[in-house]
Amino acid sequence: MSTGYMNKGEVRSEVARWITEHWDPGMPLERWRMLLADSGWACPTWPERWCGRGLSGALGRVVAEEMRRAVVPGPPEGVGMMLVAPVILEHGSEELKERYIRPTVTGGITWCQLFSEPGAGSDLAGLQSRAERDGDAWRLSGQKVWSTGAATADFGLLLARTDWDVSKHQGITAFVLPMRQPGVTVRPLRQMNGHSSFNEVFFDEAHVKEVIGELGGGWTVAKATLAHERRLAVFPPLPSDVAGRAWQEAIAERTAIAEPHKWYPQRAGRPDLVISQAQALGRSRDPVVRQEIAKLIELSWSARWMAERAAAARAAGERPGPEGSLGKLASTKIARQAARVHSMIAGPAGLLSGPGSLLSGTITEISVSVPAISIAGGTDEIQRSIIAERILGLPREPDVSVGIPFRDVRTG
Ligand SMILES: Cc1cc2nc3c(=O)[nH]c(=O)nc-3n(C[C@H](O)[C@H](O)[C@H](O)COP(=O)(O)OP(=O)(O)OC[C@H]3O[C@@H](n4cnc5c(N)ncnc54)[C@H](O)[C@@H]3O)c2cc1C
Repeated sequence: MSTGYMNKGEVRSEVARWITEHWDPGMPLERWRMLLADSGWACPTWPERWCGRGLSGALGRVVAEEMRRAVVPGPPEGVGMMLVAPVILEHGSEELKERYIRPTVTGGITWCQLFSEPGAGSDLAGLQSRAERDGDAWRLSGQKVWSTGAATADFGLLLARTDWDVSKHQGITAFVLPMRQPGVTVRPLRQMNGHSSFNEVFFDEAHVKEVIGELGGGWTVAKATLAHERRLAVFPPLPSDVAGRAWQEAIAERTAIAEPHKWYPQRAGRPDLVISQAQALGRSRDPVVRQEIAKLIELSWSARWMAERAAAARAAGERPGPEGSLGKLASTKIARQAARVHSMIAGPAGLLSGPGSLLSGTITEISVSVPAISIAGGTDEIQRSIIAERILGLPREPDVSVGIPFRDVRTG
């Protein structure tokens, strides 16, 4: 099945025709996803062998539009589809692809990302979880932290140190970790906004077998994962007014997957609520509030135009430019400005949660969730270093650990 010749109109009509022939809202969700995977419409930009059709990004977007128009569920959202499957496609062996791509696409298995450690966040390459050879497997000890969704995931995309006698970037290996085994303990953390999205994950003689990429090549896998992570999308809204077994199951699945991310809109500052709040609380004529709202809108619009420019460049086949890091910094600025304006508008009432609070506590949740946006996926300071070094060509930050065995590096 070669589809390289197709144009947008042909893709649109073929997807529509295929959906008409196959979609039945009464079918189980997994059955529908299997049909999608077999037809290649599940992940149209992926290779034909792996649930795709090898289409360009622009044609892939046409497929997504057509599926939205027909109101049919797609593959599951979250870490598995956005990070792990693309990384296994790029770096995994045929055996790993065979075992994990399709069940991830059909929603049979779920994933979490096991990278950060108490002493290795920004300095991820300084990680100290240790995997030691044990016959044809590896024995794992150490600790991860901030692992989103680890309490419910079936598998983890894990980075562990396998060689302490080479420099820090060289001794890391990426593994597939089965989460449900005796040596893995997951402890949820409670955040200041009341949610429990993250976990500490402890390894005590846990076992891993499957290496992703090369032994000692974990840093390459980590970089590929982080590149996908910068594109990790906010969950799109689900359609309302849907009926049938497949949608019921899709909604239940989405509710569970999105649970750790429920507060992410508040983390982004909710600029969409600012004007209506100013009007509702009688602050829209206050000149200082108006100025601050104008600043917020200025920031939001310029960030949106920058993202659109980046999307157009990608669609035209250009290499990713500085927009990724600039966009990440822009989202921090927007979130902070939005939280500031919300506080100005709300006054002391913006500190209350519980019954009778503003928008049922949403305004308060914004204040205590916004700090996360400048940390997740690489802190602002790290983004600025990336811009300085890779885009502006400034000298690299000194790193005393380069060229010496990791066991001799002073850590902690
Ligand atoms: C919402 C959210 C979701 C997350 N999900 C996951 C997940 O699913 N899986 C996962 O593995 N991790 C996850 N993380 C962890 C995240 O990747 C780390 O928190 C982040 O990389 C920062 O690391 P750290 O917390 O150890 O801070 P540190 O690295 O200790 O940084 C502390 C401070 O020092 C600054 N700093 C550190 N190094 C430098 C430097 N070289 N130059 C200048 N300043 C520096 C930092 O900018 C920061 O202000 C998540 C975090 C958040 C907030």
